[in-house]
Amino acid sequence: MIDTQTVKREHDILTLAGRDTELKRVAGTAGGEYQGACPFCGGRDRFRAQPGGGRDGLGFWACRVCEPKGGDVIAYVMKRDNCNFTEAIDRLTHHTPTNHAPRRTPAPPSRPNAPELNQAAALRVIEECEADLWSERCAPVRDYLRTERGLWDEVIRLWRIGYCSTGRRDEYGRTIAGLYVPRGIIIPNIIGGAVWALKVRLMPGVPFQCAKCKAVLTTPGRCPHCGENNKMRGVKGNRAALFGAETLPGMRAAVLCEGEFDMLLLNQCAGDLVGVATFGSARPNLDVATWASYLLPIAPLFIAYDSDDTGERGADGLMGLTQRARRLVVPMKAKDITDSWKAGADLRQWVVEALNRGHLPQRPAFATTPADPITAMPPQTL
Ligand SMILES: [Zn+2]
Ligand SMILES: [Zn+2]
Repeated sequence: MIDTQTVKREHDILTLAGRDTELKRVAGTAGGEYQGACPFCGGRDRFRAQPGGGRDGLGFWACRVCEPKGGDVIAYVMKRDNCNFTEAIDRLTHHTPTNHAPRRTPAPPSRPNAPELNQAAALRVIEECEADLWSERCAPVRDYLRTERGLWDEVIRLWRIGYCSTGRRDEYGRTIAGLYVPRGIIIPNIIGGAVWALKVRLMPGVPFQCAKCKAVLTTPGRCPHCGENNKMRGVKGNRAALFGAETLPGMRAAVLCEGEFDMLLLNQCAGDLVGVATFGSARPNLDVATWASYLLPIAPLFIAYDSDDTGERGADGLMGLTQRARRLVVPMKAKDITDSWKAGADLRQWVVEALNRGHLPQRPAFATTPADPITAMPPQTL
């Protein structure tokens, strides 16, 4: 009879994964949190390990790209040695020497434009806001992320989502490490180990000021007084970047979503089947060509923008740029991916069906001609 708890207690995820990848301590929560390149799929900071994490506090690890659900030390050995549960226990108890080939590490992403954000300050903001989110007073924010956005705690931690609170009703933000951070849910965009942006999603029920007329509102969305769209905020130095870019390398197909929460939810449901990324809106104010190296090997590139005018126009724009793009309409006649999930759609099945539907590229993947408009496109066309 195997006592899995004892096996887990005797093996530390940090020691185990530490043989396969170099891990750096990044936070003090749950007995410390460490990050580094994924031993299975590479990258730079996508792999995270918590020696005291997991439901039983006996260790947790996850990879934002190849294993967003994560697991314990046993799951780690199962994945590493491609073996079953019993074999993994056996290897752990008998200390079978690890005998696996070194993993290939994908080339680091080309980064033609460096982020402008002060990295030390951005990391301080991320750490403080993560601590804030997991504190007692932020329970309603965690509930919102779980029930309204469908995100698992592991996924929230993996993408380092946080919350900037101020403690006072009429204070709409605060300064952390010299950066003014509006009150709300912090969504860091970390690519290749660098923080490109700290986006702030306003939290329903928490007062904020309309960006245009300064009226105090509590419902993110259109301002009833001036019509301004209030949903997202940001910090100084933010640079538009492809959120989820690191889920793309090695994937044949990908889904481009309109917003970050849709991206996180779909990645959680189907991240092992497709890459999932977002430019942060249907009509992004960024140079799509900068991100072409991520997008070029992908075919088909499904465009799952919102079912509204902005979404349709944005999708049409991308379809005009590359023949590898395919429109993918969200299920249940919902407005967006999160709404269809709320309506009961099986998002994973939706992706499987899209992949099976013969949405095959006219040209083989990877064989891109120089005439592909997404490469030939001048900067700032979208
Ligand atoms: Zn991985
Ligand atoms: Zn207004």
